[in-house]
Amino acid sequence: MVETNICSALGSVWYRSVADTTKGVSMVNEFGLAHQNGASSQALSERPYYKPVGNEETVFKAAYRQGLSLVLKGPTGCGKTRFVEAMAHDLGRPLITVACHDDLTTADLVGRYLLRGDETVWVDGPLTRAVREGAICYLDEVVEARQDTTVVLHPLSDYRRQLPIERLGITLDAAPGFGLVMSYNPGYQSVLKDLKDSTRQRMVAIEFGFPDPDVEEGIIAHEAGVDHATAVELVRFGQAIRRLETGGLREVASTRVLIAAGRLIAEGLPVAVAARVAIAGPLTDDDAVSRGLHELIDVYLGESAAGD
Ligand code: ADP
Repeated sequence: MVETNICSALGSVWYRSVADTTKGVSMVNEFGLAHQNGASSQALSERPYYKPVGNEETVFKAAYRQGLSLVLKGPTGCGKTRFVEAMAHDLGRPLITVACHDDLTTADLVGRYLLRGDETVWVDGPLTRAVREGAICYLDEVVEARQDTTVVLHPLSDYRRQLPIERLGITLDAAPGFGLVMSYNPGYQSVLKDLKDSTRQRMVAIEFGFPDPDVEEGIIAHEAGVDHATAVELVRFGQAIRRLETGGLREVASTRVLIAAGRLIAEGLPVAVAARVAIAGPLTDDDAVSRGLHELIDVYLGESAAGD
């Protein structure tokens, strides 16, 4: 109960901070916020490499300062996680990432009693830690989480910014600096569809796609350590796959798989071999589709991998 009161007090500080930061003194207050509640700051560590593809950085920071939750929509491997890491760095907030999966329950997020020796102790889950510490909590692929998690996500993602912890009989107000960010692939089923409209409409959505070729070339050269010409080749091939209209591919070639191919090339593997194992292989198990992709590799990447 004491926790609730402390957090309520901090909560009011948060809303004052929000009002202050809307007056246009952004970075100073972003870092200031980090120190207000004693949470550790990531401001001094190196910024995770992230190349903006549009206005997503401005939108994220504006939404964060206003205490609005964010939804990042987009296919896998297009930079959502890296983006959140860079934003947490810029805002000077700790980042707590939860990779959601289909067994993820409310208790996994909020916490549970565990047996330690002959004592039963309460252990906070990652969401509760983020709420107490004023961290940014990133629920990666939230679509995977079990439906019952919406019970805790509702009051946290709307104006209340509260986390009910049923097992403890308390409701925590989010500490200053707390931010809730979720990602999902709109192609899949979503727990978000079960959020009330009133909640959904308080969330800010940022759509992610694959970067423009010149941006993606820079990302691949940087991340894989290959020269510009190789990055250009890989991006051209990736784009050819993205243009394919085949029912056999569940996902197209992401920036992530192009980087993986680049890394193998940097290790000295022939380009076509790298593309087969790092791009075509992960994308499909279907023999016919696989053959099609291999032909495309031969056409786009100049050399046949046959016999390698
Ligand atoms: P997602 O979370 O969307 O599945 P990630 O953030 O893990 O994707 O991106 C996969 C990889 O692609 C990252 O580790 C990073 O190397 C690279 N990447 C993608 N987009 C960008 C970008 N805009 N700037 C820098 N790196 C990027």
